[in-house]
Amino acid sequence: MDKEASMVQRAGYWLKCPVCGGDKFWHREAQLNTRMMTLFELDWLNPRGDCYICETCLHILWFYSEDEQP
Ligand SMILES: [Zn+2]
Repeated sequence: MDKEASMVQRAGYWLKCPVCGGDKFWHREAQLNTRMMTLFELDWLNPRGDCYICETCLHILWFYSEDEQP
């Protein structure tokens, strides 16, 4: 995990936590190849994702990974 949380921009929008309204997140890359993905028949997707963890309340925002990293 990154040492410091930071503001994150995706698709031109600054992320804001829907739970606490926080705007600082830690970034993690994650494999999405789980049984859940298979359950929803999403395993045809290249199973890679970005998750951003809210510094304040630890809510996790998930994104399907883009090739270019911000
Ligand atoms: Zn939060």
